[in-house]
Amino acid sequence: MAELIDGKSVAEDVVRRVKALTAELAEKGGRQPGLAVVIVGEDPASQVYVASKSRTAKECGFHSVQHTLPAETSEPDLLKIIGQLNADPAINGILVQLPLPGHIDSGKIIQTIAPEKDVDGFHFINVGKLGTGELETAFVPCTPAGSMLLIERVRGKDLSGLNAVVVGRSNIVGKPMANLLLAANCTVTIAHSRTRDLPALARTADILVAAVGRSEMVRGDWVKPGATVIDVGINRVVASEKGEGKTRLVGDVAFAEAAKAAGAITPVPGGVGPMTIAMLMANTLASAYLAAGLKRPSF
Ligand code: NAP
Repeated sequence: MAELIDGKSVAEDVVRRVKALTAELAEKGGRQPGLAVVIVGEDPASQVYVASKSRTAKECGFHSVQHTLPAETSEPDLLKIIGQLNADPAINGILVQLPLPGHIDSGKIIQTIAPEKDVDGFHFINVGKLGTGELETAFVPCTPAGSMLLIERVRGKDLSGLNAVVVGRSNIVGKPMANLLLAANCTVTIAHSRTRDLPALARTADILVAAVGRSEMVRGDWVKPGATVIDVGINRVVASEKGEGKTRLVGDVAFAEAAKAAGAITPVPGGVGPMTIAMLMANTLASAYLAAGLKRPSF
């Protein structure tokens, strides 16, 4: 059986380190890191995520601000708030919870966030920095950054010569994940819905990352013996065995099958999921260090 990669415990390590480095920043004369989370509308899943982000920020010793705006908030009003947060020296990180209501152009909002406060890593400047290997100052999207930390726990920082296959090419996960693996010297292939013979391609992977959004699509016989398997997917499926109307979370990987072949694998839940918020804290801390003219801490 594969080694289980415990994302919950790695995420706790990251949060502990962020807390310690926040105290160290104060000793060096820097400001308390500040994170502003903006949410528009009442989507229950988004409310849960935002509450959890604000709670973890407080746990890290950050100045934590939350703007909860009604669903009918206009685009100009939201842009105004972003402008105020951009100008506020007490704020190092700005996160706008997606999705936004349909009448607001998310792209326009994201590109209005100051790149040095874009702790989600979605601004074109940060996308470009990651793409060109400017990792000292880039903000990398939190889910792939967290996935990379999990890979490093198993394989170390230098992944020279390893074949990596990333299934999924979204701007939030697949593409930044591929860039991170490339920066760590993997030979990277990005697969997507038009890829031919995905099982055969997946079997070439020493590191296989699934970020698709299709429950248990990656089967056990897609996994090269000994491979590191990172399951980014979070899919809610019906669990009639738990009772009427019950559901459970599964990943994009058929865990029980894949764990027989893999060398190491992330579970769902408890794998990549907890890393996302932890890396948001690490990015906000990095922004505060850079704002104080200090080198950003590495994780
Ligand atoms: P997305 O934007 O929907 O992208 C999905 C990607 O999968 C697309 O590139 C798509 O290809 C590809 N795809 C779809 N069907 C496929 C198939 N049959 N074979 C091969 N590729 C296929 O999703 P995302 O935002 O990247 O998220 C992916 C998963 O990760 C979701 O389950 C999401 O819930 C989860 N997620 C988790 C976290 C976390 O915190 N752990 C964070 C973000 C996302 P095309 O481009 O060709 O359409």
